[in-house]
Amino acid sequence: MDFCYADDYCAASEGENLEISETNPSINNDSDQFFITLEVETTSPIEDDEEQFVGVESTESFTFWAKCPRFKEGNLSRERISMMLSSAGVARHKQGVMIDIISDRADQIANAARYRAARVLPMKVSISVVACSCYEEEVEAVS
Ligand SMILES: [Zn+2]
Repeated sequence: MDFCYADDYCAASEGENLEISETNPSINNDSDQFFITLEVETTSPIEDDEEQFVGVESTESFTFWAKCPRFKEGNLSRERISMMLSSAGVARHKQGVMIDIISDRADQIANAARYRAARVLPMKVSISVVACSCYEEEVEAVS
C-alpha cells in the first residue's frame, strides 16, 4: 500500500509571538527580512491487523531568513520555499500545495498593516508528513 500522499498537512501563520532566536546574517542589509520557523513532524503508518494508526517518528525545527521585497505578491519565491522544504527533508512531490500555502501567507504578512514599519517579518510554518522513501531516492538521485 502506498502511503505517500496520505494525510500530509501544512499550515503557515503570522509568527506573532515568535522569539527571534538568532542573529540575522544580513542585518546590515537594506531589505526587510522574513524570519521563518519550520516545524516538520514525520509520521509513519502502523498497521495493526485491520486498523491503521499513525505514529510520530520525529519532530524537527528549522529556521530561515529570507529577503522580503514587499511586493504585492511573490515575496517569497517558489524556488526559495522549495529549497527550505527540501532542506527540512520534505520530498519534492509533496511540496506543491505546501508551497502555495506558504507563498500566500508570506504575501499576506508582507502586506499586513501591522508590519508596515517592521524590518523583520515573522512566519511560522507547521508541517506533518507521512514518511515515504521518496526523499531518500531524491537525495540519492542528486548525489
Ligand atoms: Zn513519497
